[in-house]
Amino acid sequence: MLRYAAPIQQLIEALEKLPGIGPKSAQRLAFFLLRSSDEDMRVLGEAILSLKDEIQLCQQCYNYCTAELCPICEDPHRDSSVICVVEEVSDLMALERPGEYQSLYHVLGGALSPVENIKPSDLRISELLERIKQTSPQEIILATSPTVEGDATAEYVRQLILELPAPPKISRIALGLPVGGDLDYADQVTLARALRGRTVMED
Ligand code: ZN
Repeated sequence: MLRYAAPIQQLIEALEKLPGIGPKSAQRLAFFLLRSSDEDMRVLGEAILSLKDEIQLCQQCYNYCTAELCPICEDPHRDSSVICVVEEVSDLMALERPGEYQSLYHVLGGALSPVENIKPSDLRISELLERIKQTSPQEIILATSPTVEGDATAEYVRQLILELPAPPKISRIALGLPVGGDLDYADQVTLARALRGRTVMED
């Protein structure tokens, strides 16, 4: 089989590993990159290389950042009495976009999934419980996705929070989000409404 020159072939194979990129797209991207300016290539290459070196996880909420605490946790104007629990950093970013939410977050790092073998110990649940014990927030908003996994994760986390001495109020973001969809696909108006219309989870 005819193959591309090794550097191109290598790039295509690396690009194919990215989510949503099939062989065709990988080729298209590789040839686009080949035609790009040296400067554009340098910027892209350095951005990729510096990712792992410079990005770390916020010690408090597990957002991506370049310091010990992320800008949200460091912001003194944020209301620290409310913690919004999300699956991924992309969900946090989605909830930030409408600009209405002015409290803190906790990024679990995924959702429970028997299919993908994601267990409670794979998520930052014990870190959340410890944080609640340390900082005594008044409310926990469970903003995991409106999927089977997201709902199961919210319920699991809720049960554990209820076992804490003096548990905070626990709420779940309102439905109206596209069911089965990820938070970061919802538009800003829908997300703002989902947060505003959150309901307290009763026993
Ligand atoms: Zn943070």
